[in-house]
Order: sequence, then structure tokens, then C-alpha cells
Amino acid sequence: MLKNQHAVKGMRWSKQELVEALAAENGRDIFKKADLLREAVCGDEVHRRGLIEFSNYCARNCHYCGLRRDNSKLTRYRMSEDEIVESAQNAKKLGYRTVVLQSGEDGGFTTDALCRTVEKIKQKTNLAITLSVGEKTKNEFRRLKSTGSDRYLMRFETSNRGLYERLRPGASLDTRLENLKVLRELGYQVGSGCMIGLPGQTLEDLADDLLLMEKMDLDMVGVGPFIPHPETPLKNSPRGDLKLTLKFVALVRLVTRNTHIPATTALGSIHPFGRQMALERGANVLMPNVTPEKYRKFYEIYPNKICITEKPSDCAGCVGSMIHSLGRKIAKGYGHSLKQRREA
Ligand code: SF4
Repeated sequence: MLKNQHAVKGMRWSKQELVEALAAENGRDIFKKADLLREAVCGDEVHRRGLIEFSNYCARNCHYCGLRRDNSKLTRYRMSEDEIVESAQNAKKLGYRTVVLQSGEDGGFTTDALCRTVEKIKQKTNLAITLSVGEKTKNEFRRLKSTGSDRYLMRFETSNRGLYERLRPGASLDTRLENLKVLRELGYQVGSGCMIGLPGQTLEDLADDLLLMEKMDLDMVGVGPFIPHPETPLKNSPRGDLKLTLKFVALVRLVTRNTHIPATTALGSIHPFGRQMALERGANVLMPNVTPEKYRKFYEIYPNKICITEKPSDCAGCVGSMIHSLGRKIAKGYGHSLKQRREA
């Protein structure tokens, strides 16, 4: 529920202002404003979305990702439908109200299988369901919606067309944006986002990313630093910068205003307090992992990812303590879009 409707309507940022804010030596001013705006539009509650990484197969070959098709060193796994449903039931026991089903673009886990899985999770748990399984046809998106999916995450990664097409061979930014438009038309709550510090990315590109997020009127925005994976073509590129990523998170709040913004695991992986810092700079969501322990270490999008040896219950304890240590509260509701205000 929005505490302060006035806070939702704010100033529009120009591209130049965004570039200057990203370039500023000190982000304190935007950090403070982002935290105040978060408090006004989201309150003190932090939503927990239980993440189930159900398959690490991927048909694509993105240059920045450890799950890429050509990474032959990765042990591949695909959870069964029953295992996914069981993980969702576990998420419910841990008190979460949403599960996020995430995978690479895995043709081996068919849309039929995913529809059945979504339907079973809905029947047995009534949790909100977010999908993050890549590009599909409109018909497939429609079927997944009709079986009970509520939300869909699909990052555009960068709004720089040339960079996008270089880093995602065979993929097109236009197709990506068209997919996101279709998801919106079908009534999903839509999440997108980008990566900070991609090789060749400029501050102007990041400002364009923010303006695109504003234009798309997203419900959720996730961002994380680029972290080079040793089995990818970008293995020798420098990692995305922590401070720049935090400034970007703050600007996501200030530009998109009433969106759900996760403090991402990638931020927690480059700094022990990365997620806490994001929560104090505009973020209002955490995504504790509920993937069974035996699979976690194989969902290696980037190296040195945190939470790969913990049990789901360990992650629940950790995020609960994190929320309380910041003087915030664990959200009890589903955490649906702040724009539609469909909170149960
Ligand atoms: S970023 Fe996504 S689509 Fe690209 S290789 Fe990784 S899992 Fe596949």
C-alpha cells in the first residue's frame, strides 16, 4: 500500500542529470533521497521472493554468463516437476508468499511441463508465481499466464543495441523489448533490468537504461554488477563497480519510483554487505534461494556466488536477520505490483 501518494509523482530526470549523478564522486545525496522515497512508497517492509533455480541448461551463448551453451565444464541439471513443486511447498513453509521459477532458455523443460508445474504450485500453495525463463512465443506466454503465473522477469541487460547484440549472439534487443511488451499486454506484472559494468558500456548507456525503465513503466527492476566468469569470453574483463551499482540502484528508485527493487545476490557476492547497502539505497526486496542444496553450486551464472552451500532454511534465517538488523520488517503480503495495488 502506498503511504504517500505525493511521493510517487516526482521530478523527471534528464539524460544529462543521470550521467552526472552516476559520475559523481559521492553518491550520498541520491542515496538519502532514494531511501526516503523507498520509505514513502514501499514503507519499511521487505518482501522475500523464494528463488528456485530449476534448470541450468541454456540454448544461448551470452558472453557474460556461466550458463552459456558452450561452457562444457558446467555440470548441467534439470529438476523434475515434483522437485520444483516440493521446493515451492518448502518456500511456503518458510513463510514466503512468492516463488520465482528461474532457468536458462531450456528447450528440454517444455512449456507444457512448466504449465503443469505452475498449476500444481498454485493448487498446493497458492503462492504468487514469478517466471524467469527467457524468451517465448506469445502463445506460450499466454498459456503460462492462464495456468496461474503472476509475474515475469526478463532483463534487457543493456539498452545499447550494438553492445546487446555483441554480448548476446543471435539475439536482438528489439525482440527482447517486444517480448516485454507482450508480457505486459497479457497482464503479467513485468520485471526487467540491466547489468552494470559490462565491457564497453558507458555512463550514457546506463542513463539510457534508466530512461528506458521509466518509459516501460515496469513493476519490478533488478540490477546487478557484471562479474566475469572464467569460462566465458569476458573472463579477463574487469568486474562492475560496487559504488556505481549502488548509485544505479538509487537512481532506479528515483526514476521509476513505485517499483519493487531487489537487493540482488550479485551485489551480495561482490561485497559482504552489498545487499544491506542496496536495501538502504532504494531496494525493498530480497530473493532467498530455495533451490535444493545439491543443485545450487551448478547454477553458476558468475563465480563466487553466495548462498551455494546453505540450506533453504539457512537463507530464510539469514535474510530475516538482515531485514531486522536494518530496522525493517518482513512483509506479510504477496508484494504484488505497487502500480496495480492488488495486495492481498
Ligand atoms: S544470460 Fe540467460 S540466456 Fe544468456 S546464457 Fe545465461 S541463462 Fe542463457
